Amino acid sequence: MLDYTFDRQHIWHPYTSLTHPLPTYGIARAEGVHLYLEDGRPLVDGMSSWWACLHGYNVPELNAAATDQLGKMAHVMFGGITHEPAIELCRKLVALTPDGLDRVFLADSGSVAVEVALKMALQYWQSRGTPRRRFVALRQGYHGDTFGAMSVTDPEGSMHRLYRGFVAEHYFVPAPPVAFDAPWDQAAMMPLTQLLAQQHSEIAALILEPIVQGAGGMRFYHPEYLRQARALCDEYGILLIADEIATGFGRTGKLFACEWAGIRPDILCLGKALTGGYLTLSATLTTQAVMQQICDGEAGVLMHGPTFMANPLACAVANASLDLLLASPWQERVASIEAQLKRELTAYTDHPQVAAVRVLGAIGVVETKTPQDQARLQACLVAQGVWIRPFGRLIYLMPPFIIQPDELSLLTRAIGVALDTR
Ligand SMILES: *Cc1c(COP(=O)(O)O)cnc(C)c1O
Repeated sequence: MLDYTFDRQHIWHPYTSLTHPLPTYGIARAEGVHLYLEDGRPLVDGMSSWWACLHGYNVPELNAAATDQLGKMAHVMFGGITHEPAIELCRKLVALTPDGLDRVFLADSGSVAVEVALKMALQYWQSRGTPRRRFVALRQGYHGDTFGAMSVTDPEGSMHRLYRGFVAEHYFVPAPPVAFDAPWDQAAMMPLTQLLAQQHSEIAALILEPIVQGAGGMRFYHPEYLRQARALCDEYGILLIADEIATGFGRTGKLFACEWAGIRPDILCLGKALTGGYLTLSATLTTQAVMQQICDGEAGVLMHGPTFMANPLACAVANASLDLLLASPWQERVASIEAQLKRELTAYTDHPQVAAVRVLGAIGVVETKTPQDQARLQACLVAQGVWIRPFGRLIYLMPPFIIQPDELSLLTRAIGVALDTR
């Protein structure tokens, strides 16, 4: 048995109290779409370990890539040194992402990718001789937990007031009000249009999660918002940073969510599913123009360089994960997950506990009217043989793309039972 007492007393879990900890579940191994509890009971995974494990777990191709790279080198510094896994990965990322994003900075987590994106924007304006120090972000957005990333994350959601005086203050506009498939309403652009008209001379960049606002509310918004946000940024010469750390690599039905609007950001952040969920790695891509401006500036360099930059092991697994994804019928898989989620989750739309149901790509969300008792709900879901991690009023699914229809039905049925037994 795992030492749950030690865990409870000494180890912090994400956003969890150590004095009133929620129960944790010991996972002994994982394979395919299943997590295995200590006693051997399988749980069908509905979370992809927070957007990351696209191919499921214990994936032979990814294991082989890791083992092969381990035999060569697990790590080597990236200062003054380069290596094949990094070159191959950056070549792939340049080819896959929207045209023109061809300069790549590799770092070690999503939050750091966002820090790098913010620094790129700040150095860009500094180098032009007209420093701009403010960002615009969307309410209900989430960009990570480090201070720069937190400063552009929804102030309520990330409790900015706890860190007053330390978190930089930026501008926030309301979350895009028009849903992904609702009729477009031009009034949606008013707040952003007005803010940029008034404050553009101090705004370095607009940062947003394209189409899907993830951790801040699991909301799907209209592609026209993204198209017009791009146009507004162009009008005022403001940079656009797209944080695709959650949406990247097929989750929304497009390889990158920006494709829904046919736009190219000036800076793109990738992470989470980049290594198929094996290792922590992120990438921040930008254009030749932004790169040139930064390198023409006072510092002459981008002021960042993490110890584990371009970790060869992570890059090798990322390469194998991208090969596996692109060789798979991922569009069909995501489309059939989407169709099934629409069928099976919309059945709960009229449930007395349910405020809304929404589905986009391989993401399904049931929003309840009142906050849930997380420990009770979690126990109810585990008892049914599924791993779904609700938070607040959201019970949501983003399963590995390899999930089979009967396994997906187990997930959606478990949500129904959980709603009934509240
Ligand atoms: C998870 C996430 C991050 C932060 O990534 P970490 O690897 O947890 O630091 C940033 N932006 C978005 C959109 C995310 O979903």
